[in-house]
Amino acid sequence: MKRLCTLTLIVTLIAAVACAQERAETEPTPSTAATALPSTVDTPIPPAGVTATIAAQTTPFGDEDAFTAAREAMVEEGIVGMGITDETVIAAMSAVPRHRFVPEEWLAQAYENHPLPIGHGQTISQPYIVALMTEAAEVGESDRVLEIGTGSGYQAAILAEIVDRVYTVEIIGALAERAEATLETLGYDNVTVRHADGYYGWEEEGPFDAILVTAAPDHIPQPLVAQLKVGGRMIIPVGPVGGYQTLWRVTRVSEEEVRTEDLGGVVFVPFTREEPES
Ligand code: SAH
Repeated sequence: MKRLCTLTLIVTLIAAVACAQERAETEPTPSTAATALPSTVDTPIPPAGVTATIAAQTTPFGDEDAFTAAREAMVEEGIVGMGITDETVIAAMSAVPRHRFVPEEWLAQAYENHPLPIGHGQTISQPYIVALMTEAAEVGESDRVLEIGTGSGYQAAILAEIVDRVYTVEIIGALAERAEATLETLGYDNVTVRHADGYYGWEEEGPFDAILVTAAPDHIPQPLVAQLKVGGRMIIPVGPVGGYQTLWRVTRVSEEEVRTEDLGGVVFVPFTREEPES
């Protein structure tokens, strides 16, 4: 199992580097994207102080000050330094304790700017990508937001810092349960988690001001478009399984029309239609 996790991480890291290169080719300001991401990916070893502190603790969440310092450094270099400017997103990234969403064995890398395994073959997304998607969704205080792909619950917590209500759907029951418990422990009482296939969205709670999809389907699910308010934005990676995807912003401009904008190349785990056997 451990070997599998390591392998997953390596594959993800390779993908993240490739992703950074692809973003660098497609983005108007290549220097920011090209320099910041690979340097974090190439050095997956946490700052010395953080490692030492964690190793010395008997409980995994022992030294909150060290985690806070690591988080501040990550926000400065990997979020602001990579071009995120929305103050509400930056504040949320500074507030949410990512280390509480990361399995204990990966704690020392909780504030590295790359994805990490969370079990069941899934990952917690790279912080920069979480910030990018949140910024692109242009979410505001009074919004109702749907997330497809709860995973660890981290992206849901970032949204919950900014918006009124978050609904999040996860196809793997064990992950949905764990994320719900984490979010509850941290006091995010404006997030509701559901165990289901997110292809169908969450019709009873819609329509939504924004929808974030954090796994990659090979087409845009029509039920999700239907659950966007007019003026609502969906951020979704679309592309072939095992390849690169394009991150799209789909804005519902009227009852009948959508506008799509290409936000660049990314790599996400696949959008599945059935709960995988574990
Ligand atoms: N947003 C997550 C990252 C999750 S990775 C976080 O912040 O940690 C993508 C997640 O999407 C995985 O947990 C995967 O199980 C889930 N997923 C894949 N296909 C899905 C589907 N059809 N419906 C709901 N969740 C799905």
